[in-house]
Formats: sequence, structure tokens, C-alpha cells
Amino acid sequence: MHEYYLFLSLLHHIEESLAGYPKPKVKRVILKVGEFSGVEENYLKDIMETFKEDTILAEAEILLERDPLRIRCEKCSTETNVQRGTLCPCCGSTEVKIVGGLDLVLKSIEIEDENLL
Ligand SMILES: [Zn+2]
Repeated sequence: MHEYYLFLSLLHHIEESLAGYPKPKVKRVILKVGEFSGVEENYLKDIMETFKEDTILAEAEILLERDPLRIRCEKCSTETNVQRGTLCPCCGSTEVKIVGGLDLVLKSIEIEDENLL
């Protein structure tokens, strides 16, 4: 049930982000799911669709984007998506740092505030 807890924490985070709006209606949420985040995309989406009723996300469209594993070379600063191996494709250095693809990121929240209409 890892994904269920992720959903709860996302929900909490979204509610906090929208605390300043009197009656926000979330239209769309975009999440970036890291390739190596350990999150099962389809399962997370199912969980969100199942449990979003009666929450701030009840009418929201939930979009998941895959975030590929990315590395940055410490020597030449080239950033690339990792295909295979962990060498810098530009200079061949092994001094690379993972800079993306490990996390679940809340990319954007689109809302409609009834009080603004
Ligand atoms: Zn390099």
C-alpha cells in the first residue's frame, strides 16, 4: 500500500498549497513519476482515481508523466537521460551524479476558484 500513503501525502500537500483559496476546485494535477522512484504508475493512478472522491481532487484530471533517470557529469556538466551504463556520453567520465528520476514530484496543480469567476 505504499502508493496509498503517497496519495495521502500528495493530497495533504495539495490541500496545504491551496489553503489560501476559499473554494478551490482542482481541475488538473500533473505528477512526474521518477523511473527509479519505485512508484508503480498505473497503480498510483488507480489509487488516486479510487480515493479522490470526497477530496479536493474529486473532479480533477490526474496526469502522470514519466521522469527518466538523469545524470549530470561533474567534469563537463552535461546532463543526459541514462540509457545504459553510467558514463558521461560527452566526455566519458564516471564522475556523474544522479539529478532526476528518483522521486515523485508534484509538477503542477490547475485550479478554478469559484470566487474569482
Ligand atoms: Zn562529461
